[in-house]
Amino acid sequence: MSEIDNEEFCYICRRGESQCGKLIKIPGNIGICRDCMQSTLNTMQSAGFPGMDFGFNTNPMDFTEVDTTGANAQVASETNSEENNEENKENKKDEQRRVPNISMINLSDLTNLMPNRPKIKTHKKDEPIKPIIDLKDMPAPHKIKEALDEYVIGQEKAKKVMSVAVYNHYKRIASNQDDGVEIEKSNMLMIGPTGSGKTYLVKTLARILNVPLAITDATSLTEAGYIGDDIESVVSKLLAAADNDVEKAEQGIIFIDEIDKIAKKKNTNQRDVSGESVQQGMLKLLEGALVEVPVGASSKNAMVPMVTVDTKNILFICGGAFPDLEEIIKERLNKEASIGFRADLKDKYDDEPNLQTKVVVEDIRKYGMIPEFLGRLPVLFALEELTEDMLIEILSKPKNAILSQYKKLLAMDEVELRFEEDALRVIAAKAKEKKVGARALRAILEEYMLDIMYEIPKDDNIGIVTITKDYIEGKGAPQIQMRGVPQIEEVS
Ligand code: ADP
Repeated sequence: MSEIDNEEFCYICRRGESQCGKLIKIPGNIGICRDCMQSTLNTMQSAGFPGMDFGFNTNPMDFTEVDTTGANAQVASETNSEENNEENKENKKDEQRRVPNISMINLSDLTNLMPNRPKIKTHKKDEPIKPIIDLKDMPAPHKIKEALDEYVIGQEKAKKVMSVAVYNHYKRIASNQDDGVEIEKSNMLMIGPTGSGKTYLVKTLARILNVPLAITDATSLTEAGYIGDDIESVVSKLLAAADNDVEKAEQGIIFIDEIDKIAKKKNTNQRDVSGESVQQGMLKLLEGALVEVPVGASSKNAMVPMVTVDTKNILFICGGAFPDLEEIIKERLNKEASIGFRADLKDKYDDEPNLQTKVVVEDIRKYGMIPEFLGRLPVLFALEELTEDMLIEILSKPKNAILSQYKKLLAMDEVELRFEEDALRVIAAKAKEKKVGARALRAILEEYMLDIMYEIPKDDNIGIVTITKDYIEGKGAPQIQMRGVPQIEEVS
């Protein structure tokens, strides 16, 4: 065996003895190189580590000197074992006196001194969980819906269903009595076109209830192929959202978007690693499982502390646009209605708006979600496609509406911003064309507001700016009214 094969490596920096010199042995048969030992001791000293007063008169941290003696003593003892026995004993005594006894260092004290180490708050295993929302403080479903109404336009059915579902969910946690009746978890499956407010609804809900929320995308779970770590990483995200308070995280909400992307592939002979197996992998998590997750990092590695999170009380909300689901719904409806009159009714649902709201579990199963998965998401509902009128309302009505935000910005320059009703309608129509729901609104407005936000602060005399339909249609300019001047003039 060559010398290299026998080489020992520093426990900390992994350099071999050939690179960093003879290692210093500490209990547990661990070898540490001189450099790492020196920097560890320096760190401990600068952190005021308890138990580091070794009673040296000189600099106790100057390990170089100590180590040289120690290393020499070790080498000497290997080569001249007989002759220098006495001398070695002396050296060893000297070593023991001068080398700090590493085993007296409590390593957990050391890790506590590390900067940025996340503080983890756990609860005792056998203790009942303390509900984050008390039964008596829990808002009733109609109160939850009222609060949602302040932010989310339309989607009445969805808001109602969600309010009841979360109310029941938190009631289930708060009751927590072992009387033999276990209330089923109200995990939800939300179907709705892009930009119809799925994510916004969940975010608003979590804010109203003041519970931690983590949002993830089902497509990222597919990419990894094998779920394990990836699915757990969302629990880790939730833990971070709960400030590493495990008990709080265990009662939070996880929103998994684009769930339709993990539908089972149709007509495929290959093993479907991206869809069905991801659904399978999620079953336990949805139902309730103990998962070990890294704290403060998205991946597991030796340096990251791990903590166990129980997903039993985490509310899972899955959302997806489910494109072409209408076809499946239409087919089913046609079939149901056509018993006896098939030919007449074939096109009956072709022009039906919001066909998705007629969804039933069977349709989603046909789409490619497995029955076990759907069984764990008992609350199924669909959002409506946003109409032009709804888009207009979204611009101006909700708390935190986009128009209010622009108005506030200009008000800081003491300029009043107004919008003509017709102008809003044109903006909404343009947004509708883009087919990305309310998402297009901000981008469109941004385009028109840019010049205004750039030009207006140039002139202190401007008092009122009105965004007109002509301006949005590219046929004219916004109306500008000067301070103290009653007439309206146009600027180019
Ligand atoms: P998705 O359904 O694709 O998850 P989002 O919830 O992300 O859509 O919606 C995008 C943005 O559009 C939200 O941040 C919100 O500002 C706005 N929005 C969408 N739907 C509504 C709605 N019904 N009421 C108010 N704002 C909405």
